Amino acid sequence: MSPRKNKKKEENPLELSANPALRTRKRVVLDFPPSQLQTPITYILAKEYDVASNILRAEIAPEESGKLVLEMDGLPDNLEKAIQRIKDSGIEVTEVARKVTFDMDQCIHCGACISVCLAGALKLDSEYHLQFIEPKCTICEMCVTSCPVNVVSINL
Ligand code: SF4
Ligand code: SF4
Repeated sequence: MSPRKNKKKEENPLELSANPALRTRKRVVLDFPPSQLQTPITYILAKEYDVASNILRAEIAPEESGKLVLEMDGLPDNLEKAIQRIKDSGIEVTEVARKVTFDMDQCIHCGACISVCLAGALKLDSEYHLQFIEPKCTICEMCVTSCPVNVVSINL
């Protein structure tokens, strides 16, 4: 008897990863002990976790401890695993809080941001007013550029 086929379409990690709406960003401060200064962090993040990183600030002196401020971009699960990987290697990680804010006094409730929010963090209520369900927000920033009246911003 042939094995039962699983009809649910399997998620392709590469397709998921290529979708910018499913990726999110985290800003972190990395404190390196002297023994870890040679760790190729950005290479490990890209190669092992498909996390792109942008170095915003670097203060590293040979034979001493160092500090990097990184913006990491990847799928939420991968970002969590990547951060744990960095911690496990003895580097201290401090996450910098980022959040999306909506100026509801200026919002015209057009719904344009809802159509780009694949996380389901935005909806119109029964009176057609925009609702932001913050716990669902992955801070992908897709809504920021979609707003015709520029009332969405990212706070660091
Ligand atoms: S609310 Fe904006 S930033 Fe948050 S998940 Fe939706 S589109 Fe992305
Ligand atoms: S796109 Fe801008 S104006 Fe339109 S509902 Fe969203 S936040 Fe409000």
